Amino acid sequence: MSILKARRFPFGSRIHGTKLSRYSPIETIPSPDFVCISMSQHIGAPAIPVVAEGDVVKKGQLIAKAAGPVSANIYASIPGTVEKISEITNGLGQKQTHIRIKNDFTGNEMLFDDLKDRSPSSVVERVALAGIVGLGGAGFPTAIKLSPKSPLDILIINGAECEPYLTCDDRLMLERTEDIYRGMKIIAEALGLTRIIIGIEKNKPLAIEAFAKYADIDVVPLRKQYPMGGEKQLIYCTTGRKVPVGKMPFDVGCCVQNVKTVLACYEAVVLNKPLTETVLTVSGHGVKEPKNLKVPLGTSFSSLIDYCGGKSDDTVKIVAGGPMMGKALVSLNQYTRKTDSGILVLTDKETNREKPSNCINCARCAQKCPMRLMPMMIESHFLCGDYSGAERYGAMNCVECGLCAHNCPAGRALVQSITAAKNKIREMKKNG
Ligand code: SF4
Ligand code: SF4
Repeated sequence: MSILKARRFPFGSRIHGTKLSRYSPIETIPSPDFVCISMSQHIGAPAIPVVAEGDVVKKGQLIAKAAGPVSANIYASIPGTVEKISEITNGLGQKQTHIRIKNDFTGNEMLFDDLKDRSPSSVVERVALAGIVGLGGAGFPTAIKLSPKSPLDILIINGAECEPYLTCDDRLMLERTEDIYRGMKIIAEALGLTRIIIGIEKNKPLAIEAFAKYADIDVVPLRKQYPMGGEKQLIYCTTGRKVPVGKMPFDVGCCVQNVKTVLACYEAVVLNKPLTETVLTVSGHGVKEPKNLKVPLGTSFSSLIDYCGGKSDDTVKIVAGGPMMGKALVSLNQYTRKTDSGILVLTDKETNREKPSNCINCARCAQKCPMRLMPMMIESHFLCGDYSGAERYGAMNCVECGLCAHNCPAGRALVQSITAAKNKIREMKKNG
């Protein structure tokens, strides 16, 4: 083992925020009465249901299959009866097909057979079969990342967890250290790599200590700088390699995996478990008892908030994810997905709900942008309907980290504008 010195990436910011649930061990919630499982829990096409209403399923049974290479299988997260397969508008305002399963509390569960061998192809096949995607939030199918087109030499494990409030990765690194370590080794072997680096922000000293005991991995304690968990920033800070604009981590010889994804790979390969649950943080001053919870996929957000003592009367906003990259809910009709890492119940004091004012050209947004973009220019081109102009200013390189909006004194909704601009640019290209 060696503890390596981290680099500092240019721009970015130190975000103040409390990790209220830092010392709360992960609790497994009682099996819920029902789950409502979205078919769109990953990047790419929605999964295709392979069960019908009225079917009785076991936990771990395939209920929807991947609709192509950039998609992922989905498994029942509780045993019971498929009550309904229908399109619902979720709490984010998106229309998605969901499978609702009523729990029969039988405890019936299906696992995969033991792997015949741990060859790279068997491991990659198992990871794809288990429906594992980037659980740090990206939702990109992990099996694709484990089949790189160019040679790699370093596996980087993302233990930064740089978003304020979120603590589930920290707790997993403390409570499942050995399993995560074994997951890293499985992934490294599948990629033919011997060099493994884990990057952990310095505000998690116990996690740094926990991994420092392994002789064959390097631990890099990272300075607290947002967005340290961004792939490009993490690669630079742990290795000094720069991923050029428009390029991917594999272009500089690196594969980056989040700790939760690594753990899911361990469970699929060693314990023969498909991906049916997630670990997330329920936090914010609006919830009575902030906690880290292990929950079946498809558990309702409202039941999890109730499990944590319910929300206070001064709650003004509920967010899926962290405060920087998460999305505010428009309703509580939201159910846990593979990529969820947090539910934030926020009070007035924790949010900025002032109406945006005109841009004063202070350039603070550009000074903080880790991708060196000019968010105010992208926004103004977008608002004028000049999507090509927004593209010229690099809209497609925005990683939606939220720093520009966080630092804007005019309270401009920069990320929403940039995200919308990206969608328009994609649409424009699709239609020629
Ligand atoms: S423009 Fe994008 S990458 Fe830059 S700070 Fe804003 S959200 Fe982050
Ligand atoms: S930080 Fe806000 S006010 Fe300042 S230039 Fe950027 S968008 Fe305009």
